[in-house]
Amino acid sequence: MKAEIINVGTEILLGSIDNTNSVYICKKLVEKGIETIFQTAVIDDIELVKLALKNAVERATLVIVTGGLGPTEDDLTKEALAQLFGTNLELDENTKQTIENYFSHNNKKMTANNYKQALKLKNSELIPNNNGTAPGLFIELNGNKIFLLPGPPNELIPMFEEHVLPKLKTDIFLATKSINTLEIGESELETILREIELHYPEIEIATYASYGAVEIKIIGKDNNLDDLNSKMSQVISIIDSKIHNHIYGFNYSSLEEMAVDKLKKSGQKISIAESVTGGIITSKITRIPGASEVLERGIVAYTIESKIDELGVSRNTIDSYGVVSEQVAFEMAKGLYEKTKSDYCIATTGFAGPTADKEKKVGENYICIYTKDNHFIFYNQFNGTREAIQHKIASLALIKLIVQLNNKLTLN
Ligand code: ATP
Repeated sequence: MKAEIINVGTEILLGSIDNTNSVYICKKLVEKGIETIFQTAVIDDIELVKLALKNAVERATLVIVTGGLGPTEDDLTKEALAQLFGTNLELDENTKQTIENYFSHNNKKMTANNYKQALKLKNSELIPNNNGTAPGLFIELNGNKIFLLPGPPNELIPMFEEHVLPKLKTDIFLATKSINTLEIGESELETILREIELHYPEIEIATYASYGAVEIKIIGKDNNLDDLNSKMSQVISIIDSKIHNHIYGFNYSSLEEMAVDKLKKSGQKISIAESVTGGIITSKITRIPGASEVLERGIVAYTIESKIDELGVSRNTIDSYGVVSEQVAFEMAKGLYEKTKSDYCIATTGFAGPTADKEKKVGENYICIYTKDNHFIFYNQFNGTREAIQHKIASLALIKLIVQLNNKLTLN
């Protein structure tokens, strides 16, 4: 079964709202083993909505439309579908009653145009909406399954879960698995993965790179569950045999999630002293549930005085080497360790720009990871906007922490 999603709404094409409905539906369909081949966004114009529907029914067997089911004049998805298939809209008495009850129950004033929502196409089924007034609609026409669903996500999502998914039975089993890799480039991975993919036509392997981490997403489809599981395991073990040293976990959705989980599992704690990253690393860590089990202290030591007062960095070191230096990064992390005795103390110092300093270039930075028995200092220079540079440094600090937690850290 191949699907197309149509999102109706001028707001989407004006850039006023994010098309989260489409993202949500695509994900749900992937989980069901249904491939979405097209996604169209269209303004509230009946002729254009008809055109989008006409194209969709020609190339997909499942068409899911969101938006344009409300009571106002510009809500015309049902009308477009009826016109396209040359059929009339008829009033559904039960739905009319439900809408009347909804308004009286919520003490809202009902207007004549609300009855528009009780209209349905001949031979269609209205889908109840427990969170609003616009019911959805399902119809099977000329071999196509077509769903019309309301635009607001709080109405669409429950309706999709309760009423759409059960109607989408497929014989295909689907399995997905993510492998989290670090310190290996996407192009190097690409060469290795394409070779593997050639031998497994049922399995798709994609890579997603973000700030130094690459997620390998493996998606397998088969009509036999045992075959599918066995092929997935084979692919994963081949990937493992080729890039074992770069694999840091499975199914993590972010570096911070991976770091917190690994710290929790090893019963260790971190503290962070941030200059150039201004609290970004600490903030990323605290977004993960359970961060309090692993995060001891986060200090933003932005000025020279704060580095001296809070972390005991020596003024002499700053005067001799500059605030963005290996020596200052080291003393920040060491000072933090002396205060907290955390298992890992991380410090960052650098220039996020946009203006350059006399001696240092924009993007230059040092990260120090200090432990009871050891310390590691990393120097880098990143390009990009101020914000991008800060995020790259924060991500690299997390990567180096994770690498260290896996005892794979080397100085490079
Ligand atoms: P209503 O009965 O609220 O009018 P509707 O089905 O007519 O529902 P629209 O009028 O198209 O839906 O959109 C209503 C609201 O739903 C939008 O203002 C927006 O907040 C949200 N919405 C619509 N489409 C999307 C989308 N594709 N992704 C995320 N949100 C959306």
